[in-house]
Amino acid sequence: MLVAQGQHGLILALNALVDQTYWCPSCHEPVILRHGAHRVAHFAHRRGSHCRLSEGETQEHLLGKMQLYQWAARRGYQPQLEVYLPTIAQRPDLLLRINGRLVALEFQCSPLSLKRLQERNAGYHQLGIQPWWLLGAPYQRHLQSTKIAQFTQLVAGRPALLFWDTKKGCLRIDRSFARRSLTTKKQLTKSTIIQIQTNHLMIFQIHHPALLMRIMGRQITYQLAACPFICHDLQPAWPLMREPVILWRIGIIWHLMQLPPFTFWPYLDWINWLYSKIPVKWLNYGCISSSLLHEHFLYQFTAELVSVRILIQCAHGYLLLQRPVWFNSPAQKLNSLKNNRFSNGFALKY
Ligand SMILES: [Zn+2]
Repeated sequence: MLVAQGQHGLILALNALVDQTYWCPSCHEPVILRHGAHRVAHFAHRRGSHCRLSEGETQEHLLGKMQLYQWAARRGYQPQLEVYLPTIAQRPDLLLRINGRLVALEFQCSPLSLKRLQERNAGYHQLGIQPWWLLGAPYQRHLQSTKIAQFTQLVAGRPALLFWDTKKGCLRIDRSFARRSLTTKKQLTKSTIIQIQTNHLMIFQIHHPALLMRIMGRQITYQLAACPFICHDLQPAWPLMREPVILWRIGIIWHLMQLPPFTFWPYLDWINWLYSKIPVKWLNYGCISSSLLHEHFLYQFTAELVSVRILIQCAHGYLLLQRPVWFNSPAQKLNSLKNNRFSNGFALKY
């Protein structure tokens, strides 16, 4: 920890003196001042202490907290380190005041479950404190989609992960986790994306029959790769479900093909139908409302269906205007891409 009780109140380890005695603000046991050329000055409990605060903190965590403290102080955010909030029994790494609003900063370097994160956030919200989670180096390696969802926060209204880089001492807002199914992050033309996804779908169907069976709810007798163009997710999207989004889209389009034309859904029924028709594992978000991102995604997809006139929007809901048509084979589909029919008419064969 970076703060201890001194003779005259709380003191930062940075300003503490070797020959003085300091106490833990939580258990009131005397603590040891540790400092040196290669480590951040901090206080440590004596060996065998049972205090909650005696859990070992990594150097990165200590350094990040100290940097964040200095960073926030420079901006006039009146930072307080390791303040205990008795009503919720929580101790944020930093408590700031930004434009009159209390903000808790958590610099997360160790594993944390979604449930624990949600409990901590609920505690802060109960006190009207806005929590922000900044991730440390252990989170900069490959992140699973469940962890991305857990720490997703809205920055300027758009999803992002926040990182604190202790090497550079700076904040990084990372939006690079938005992705398309079965392709790389590179800038690609629409037609290239469809080619790559089509090729991957052929392989996917051979290697993942059990997953497809679960998502589609039955044995797949048709060729996934021959799906209509509308099934391809061409725009990168923030992670929403554990499975590739393209499988969800194929499932929805396939179900629409089975329905009689002019099927009608009131608005809410349509969104619920989209949300629940395909048994994918939707991700749970820990810092923002899950339904916010899910609904945004479902309305965007609906707009795509409207734009190619599969659906039309009427006074009280959506009407199935024409059923999408499958290609005869992946080869026929790729051929029609090659013949340039795609570029001038996306709606030619959805
Ligand atoms: Zn203690």
